[in-house]
Amino acid sequence: TVTLQNLHKEFGDVVAVNGIDLEINHGEFLVIVGPSGCGKSTTLRLLAGLESTTDGRIEMGGRDVTTVEPKDRNVAMVFQNYALYPHMTGRRNITFGMKSSGDFTDEEIDRRVTEAADTLDIADLLDRKPDAMSGGERQRVALGRAIVRDPDAFLMDEPLSNLDAKLRIQMRAELARLHSTLETTTVYVTHDQTEAMTLGERVVVMNDGQIMQVDEPQVLYDFPENRFVAEFIGDPA
Ligand code: ATP
Ligand code: MG
Repeated sequence: TVTLQNLHKEFGDVVAVNGIDLEINHGEFLVIVGPSGCGKSTTLRLLAGLESTTDGRIEMGGRDVTTVEPKDRNVAMVFQNYALYPHMTGRRNITFGMKSSGDFTDEEIDRRVTEAADTLDIADLLDRKPDAMSGGERQRVALGRAIVRDPDAFLMDEPLSNLDAKLRIQMRAELARLHSTLETTTVYVTHDQTEAMTLGERVVVMNDGQIMQVDEPQVLYDFPENRFVAEFIGDPA
């Protein structure tokens, strides 16, 4: 379980996150959705430890991690610009972080890469460099890099937004399959209502740095608690 208590983040005069209270259940696929600038990425970056909190508290598995370094939180971020190293093969891109951490033997790394490649069906990409991969293939390798660490949680910030519509729908299905296989707690940020409603076991609707409603997709459709949710969910972009 991940718990956010009264989370605040200010950048100078800008209040990006304004008092978020949220419990993320172990193993759930939680989607955060809301308009541009509402604080989704900031919330995710606070969870990852990439931003410091202005106020509030973050717990993971009962541990207070509010001021814990990103590398000691055991979460894996997946961003929209998959940011693979262009001069490295798929395999090297996947293993680079593990190798440099010094926490894993070479045998363990090999075993995990084989397993991740099998899960994502990317064995034939391991010896290729990113410029010889399609957008979807690169995104799969980026996912490989995230799953190979076996993190406590995946934090995904619009990971499919650079893909064309067809591939995006295909990768959505793949993410859902991956989640049903690994059952790793996932927090997934998007501004796309359809994506949120398709992927989320629960969906958090944010506006202006605050949570407007948290519910299962069908409940959000059927019982929006306020006008913002009704209009946002009812009006897919
Ligand atoms: P989008 O859908 O466009 O990605 P978002 O919901 O992810 O939007 P955030 O990136 O979290 O929004 O930004 C929330 C607010 O905080 C915005 O007003 C943004 O301009 C501001 N902000 C975010 N990062 C910084 C920063 N490093 N310095 C100053 N202001 C920032
Ligand atoms: Mg964002």
